[in-house]
Amino acid sequence: MIRMNNIHKYFAGVHVLKGVSLEVNKGEIISIIGPSGSGKSTLLRCMNQLEKIDQGSVEIEGIVVEAAGDVGTKITATPQEVRTAYRKMGMVFQSFNLFPHMTALGNVIEAPMLVHKLGKGEAVKNAEKQLNKVGLLEKKDAFPSKLSGGQKQRVAIARALAMNPDIMLFDEPTSALDPELIGEVLSVIKNLAQEHMTMIIVTHEMGFAKEISDRVIFMDDGKILEDQSPAVFFDNPRHPRIKTFLEKML
Ligand code: ATP
Ligand code: MG
Repeated sequence: MIRMNNIHKYFAGVHVLKGVSLEVNKGEIISIIGPSGSGKSTLLRCMNQLEKIDQGSVEIEGIVVEAAGDVGTKITATPQEVRTAYRKMGMVFQSFNLFPHMTALGNVIEAPMLVHKLGKGEAVKNAEKQLNKVGLLEKKDAFPSKLSGGQKQRVAIARALAMNPDIMLFDEPTSALDPELIGEVLSVIKNLAQEHMTMIIVTHEMGFAKEISDRVIFMDDGKILEDQSPAVFFDNPRHPRIKTFLEKML
């Protein structure tokens, strides 16, 4: 459903993504792991157009939605098609990014009303369904300041789900959480996996990645060093670089 072709990204002249190619198929769950600064967040952000790519192309459902540099490809989507394609991607950040002046429910109804032009009644009904799914219906009237980190992150997941995404991108969804709150967020993500939601998850939770993933991608220095089944990746890593990384994580 998504294909990234030979993506390059620079920040102020620093080469951060050095020719990354990645294909994501419907229903797949892909974990991205790798050292700090290797380009994991940048890759996600280039996937959903939070960052412009400097070279390469991105295809969603076979339509070229982004092309930059001398890659012999042109954007084949209309601006409307490009917008629609990117609205099908939900994103969850490490730092929750909830609107602090809105209740949990307010956070979840905002985008569907603004972007999908849902009426308030319908938006509330949908939001309550999503909050129930993440186990927080009873907190719908709470403001973010009254929620724990794990609860905030679950509201953020409900907010992304309310846009009815085809794919969910998670950038270290549990890294900002106290250890005892990590499990509740991972369990929400596991439930999504059971519903066959397509997901890309940047994570440092190795046990979780091993359990949930169809593929594990290891990024190092702006490149994909490995794209492998979790069984091979964790139990029989081929690259010394990955062995060392995994040993340090244990
Ligand atoms: P971490 O595990 O610490 O989150 P990461 O693998 O997600 O790391 P990125 O955040 O993608 O790494 O960063 C890759 C490189 O790009 C780093 O050297 C970082 O300093 C740089 N970088 C990222 N975003 C920007 C930015 N907006 N401006 C300048 N440099 C940036
Ligand atoms: Mg990051």
